[in-house]
Parts: sequence; structure tokens; C-alpha cells
Amino acid sequence: MNHCIFCEIIAGTAEGDIVYQDEHTVAFLDIKPLFPGHVLVVPRQHVVTLPELPFEALQPYFRVVQGMTQAVQEAIGCEGIFVGQNNIVSQTVHHLHFHIVPRRKGDGLKGFFWPHNLYHDHAHKESIRQQIEATAADLLN
Ligand code: 5GP
Ligand code: ZN
Repeated sequence: MNHCIFCEIIAGTAEGDIVYQDEHTVAFLDIKPLFPGHVLVVPRQHVVTLPELPFEALQPYFRVVQGMTQAVQEAIGCEGIFVGQNNIVSQTVHHLHFHIVPRRKGDGLKGFFWPHNLYHDHAHKESIRQQIEATAADLLN
């Protein structure tokens, strides 16, 4: 594995403004917050993407993602929270992390600054729905 700044924060060898930690998970302030209180939640285990996280690690990890969503909102006194996570594309730190971002109406984050690519027609939408449905059935059933 190459050098990983989040592994170093977890190990305590790099500076990290830790807000919560337990046996499986660490949460700390993002060094370049979208808004003050922007928290990153990371599993102690070094994996890059969400699908790589073992099944048994999900519950302890998402317990903290969910809890931090509530904790940040109550602590900051914001109106809402954005939860997001980049897999590979736009992922600048290659250690799985969920962003917990405080939100207020009119805060300037207008949803996603991304293009909207609509379906060509109903058949196109239905074909994509069926492909995802079939793949999800294989993976999840
Ligand atoms: P990504 O772009 O991978 O979804 O998000 C990576 C996040 O990690 C960014 O929001 C960035 O500000 C944050 N980040 C990068 N390096 C460090 C660091 O050394 N310490 C902390 N606390 N956050 C970092
Ligand atoms: Zn790591």
C-alpha cells in the first residue's frame, strides 16, 4: 500500500482533528471544509471504495456515519446535512471516507453542480432500470 494520510491520522502519526473514534471507525474534521463542521468518517481498515468494505464492517461503519449526521447537525445547529462519498472518480484520498457536510438553506451549495443527462425516452429509462434491477438481484439476493 502507498502512503495514506488517513491511515496516518488513524494511527495518530499525523495531525487529525478527531471528533469520534471507536474500535472500527474514526471521524475527524476535513482539512478544507465546505462549511465549518464538515466531518469525514473513515473505517480503520484501509479500503479504497465502498464495495471493498467487508460486509461485517458495514454495520459498525454506518452506525457512525448515521450518528455523525445527527451529531454534526445538533452541534453546529445547521438545518440539514449532505452525506456523500466519491468512489475513484473525484476521489482525491484513496481511503474510504464519507463526507458529513452541514447545510443551510441558501448556503450556496445548489445540489450538485453537475450536468443533467436525461433519459432519451421511456424505453431507455426502462432498459437501464431493468439492468440495475437484474444486477442488484444477483448481488443482493
Ligand atoms: P474526496 O475528494 O476524496 O472525496 O475527499 C477528500 C477530502 O479529504 C477532501 O475534502 C479534503 O479536504 C480532505 N483531506 C485531504 N487531505 C486531508 C488531510 O490531511 N487531513 C484532513 N483532515 N482532511 C484531508
Ligand atoms: Zn488508508
